[in-house]
Amino acid sequence: MERIYDVIIIGGGPGGYTCALYAARAGLDTLIIERMSVGGQLTLTGTVDNYPGFDEGIEGIELGAKMQKGAERFGAETFYDEVISVELSGDIKKINAYSGAFLAKTVVIATGANPRELGLENEAKMTGRGIHYCAHCDGRFYKDKVVAVVGGGNSAVSDALYLSRLAKKVYLIHRRDTLRATKIYHDSIMKSENIEFIWNTTVESLITDKRVTGAIVKNVTTGEFSEVMCDGIFVSIGRDPATKLFEGILALDENGYIIADESTKTNIDGVYAVGDVRTKTLRQVVTAVSDGATAAHFAEEYISNK
Ligand code: NAP
Repeated sequence: MERIYDVIIIGGGPGGYTCALYAARAGLDTLIIERMSVGGQLTLTGTVDNYPGFDEGIEGIELGAKMQKGAERFGAETFYDEVISVELSGDIKKINAYSGAFLAKTVVIATGANPRELGLENEAKMTGRGIHYCAHCDGRFYKDKVVAVVGGGNSAVSDALYLSRLAKKVYLIHRRDTLRATKIYHDSIMKSENIEFIWNTTVESLITDKRVTGAIVKNVTTGEFSEVMCDGIFVSIGRDPATKLFEGILALDENGYIIADESTKTNIDGVYAVGDVRTKTLRQVVTAVSDGATAAHFAEEYISNK
């Protein structure tokens, strides 16, 4: 007979593994399907300072690995594969991955979000050749070089600060004249001697040789175009939810996030959405783990009422 899991969790980030910990610890037969590497967006982060319990901060990758171990201690299993489609409407849900189908009574979606792209010609081709989406992963290639960071939110500012400690010079290109980033970052970034702001400016195209050598930018106030010469560009303009698999299956909002409130319940019974993938105000590790615990609670209740 085919195994029917109590809970299948799609995505092995903080939300997914916290749900796995709570579900497995409650005695539910729990499987996490993770595409590549556990930790989700934690693997793209450097030190995490705002997750409580680590008084000196903790590396994102290490925190992700600890969350996996914590869940597996209670019997949760991780299977590495990519989910290609889902059938969620029946009492038994079917998750189709490259290596085969998996069945479950409940499904928790914890697929998170992916970096947003600028949408420039050649952007994909130049990815890894001067275009990057993760300063903490790729910044080391730019020691004593010149880089540009695009964006004005917390990620862009923290990336610019991180890169300013490695690179000779960092341009921060932002489309408005004020940062969206929280105040805590403002002082340090204003004090940094090798970060230069380029305000009211959008990146229009890439200047390339075999790799990126700069960008053509446009001042949106004056309409003037100019060149910013640099060895690498870090795109840090937010994230888009990883919900392609669920289009036409689950209710999504206009930005593609799965509509679910604090209960994490979606519009389909027995299906929950946790972490960055669902509609919510604050997308942080601490709010994702909270969702994970909540989803496990409601999954358990759903199974016992069936
Ligand atoms: P974000 O807060 O949404 O900021 C995105 C930035 O990119 C904004 O400044 C936006 O400009 C700009 N932008 C968006 N699309 C653009 C485009 N096509 N071209 C040029 N610029 C564009 O995203 P985030 O910084 O990645 O942060 C995501 C979430 O994670 C936030 O909730 C953030 O607070 C959180 N986070 C927290 C920390 C921390 O607290 N330590 C660190 C990183 C991230 P506008 O300002 O003009 O809209």
